[in-house]
Amino acid sequence: MLLWSAHCSVCAAPFDEEFGYFATTREAVEQAVGNDWTTTSGGQLVCDAADHDHHTARAGAPGPAPIVPGPGQVPLPGTTPATAPTDGR
Ligand SMILES: [Zn+2]
Repeated sequence: MLLWSAHCSVCAAPFDEEFGYFATTREAVEQAVGNDWTTTSGGQLVCDAADHDHHTARAGAPGPAPIVPGPGQVPLPGTTPATAPTDGR
């Protein structure tokens, strides 16, 4: 069975590492947003951390570079996945 979890687009922290697994991406996002997480105008999830980078992301300003998805990670519907940096070799 395929399960989904939500991760912060700023710090990559998982939403509820122990129990935060859901049948659909929509449910994962809804549960995160229902627990003080926010979504930016660009559709990125931001956790409830209170540091500068998170405030900047919530304000919709260009924040830190998006975190590169991990192996096998599927982008949320309607979002553009970040691409892995190339090292020029
Ligand atoms: Zn975060």
